[in-house]
Amino acid sequence: MHRILIVEDERDIADLIGFNLQRAGYEILKAHDGIDGTELALRERPDLILLDLMLPGRDGYAVFRELRRDPRTANTPVIMLTARAQTEDRIQGLEAGADDYLTKPFSPKELMLRVQAILKRVDAPPGPMDFCHGPFRFDKNSLKFYLDNEPAELTSTEFKLLLFLCERPGKAQDRNDLLRSVWGYSDATHSRTLDTHMKRLRQKLGPHGAWVETVRGIGYCVAKADA
Ligand code: CA
Repeated sequence: MHRILIVEDERDIADLIGFNLQRAGYEILKAHDGIDGTELALRERPDLILLDLMLPGRDGYAVFRELRRDPRTANTPVIMLTARAQTEDRIQGLEAGADDYLTKPFSPKELMLRVQAILKRVDAPPGPMDFCHGPFRFDKNSLKFYLDNEPAELTSTEFKLLLFLCERPGKAQDRNDLLRSVWGYSDATHSRTLDTHMKRLRQKLGPHGAWVETVRGIGYCVAKADA
C-alpha cells in the first residue's frame, strides 16, 4: 500500500484530499504547516508528497528545498498544490524540480490522475530491472542511476526522461511522446518546462550530456551506444 503525505494548512481541503485518496486505497499522513510537514516527511518517508505552496511556518518552496537536500527524501515524488493560477508559479514549481502540480480548486478525478501517473512511474516497471546504455546504468527497481558506474543523483523526472530516450537510441523522440512518457499526459505548461528539465539533466551528466541531442522541430534523441 502506498503512503501519501498531505501538507496543507486548509483543513477542509486536506480532509477532502485525504478522503478521496483513502477511498482509493492509499494510506494517508497529514501535516498542517511547513515545519510539521518537513519533519513528518523525513521521519515517515512517504511514497508521495502533496505539498501546498502557501503554508504557515515554512512555505512550500522552502519545505521542498529541504526535502530535496535530505537523502531520505531527495527522490520522493512531490506534487505541488497551488491556489495561484498563474502559469509562472506552476512553471517555477516544475523548474524547482517538483514532479507535478495541481492548481486549486481541482477535482478528485484530476487528483487521482496525477497521483496514479506518478506512483505508476515510481513502481517497478515490468521486465529487466537494470538497463544499460553507454555510460548510463538505470536500476529500474530502486530508481537509482549510475554514471560510469558511480551513483549519480537524478530526480524521478530526469530518470524517466533519460531512460525513455536511452531505450530508443538513435531515434528522435517527439516532444509530446516525451511528455506523455513522464507525466502520463501532455499539456502546454509541461511542454514549456521540458527544455528546462533536459538542460538540467545534461548539466548533471557533465561531459556525457553530449549523448542527449536536441532535434530541432521534433524533440530529443540519445545517440546509439556503438556510434
Ligand atoms: Ca495554504
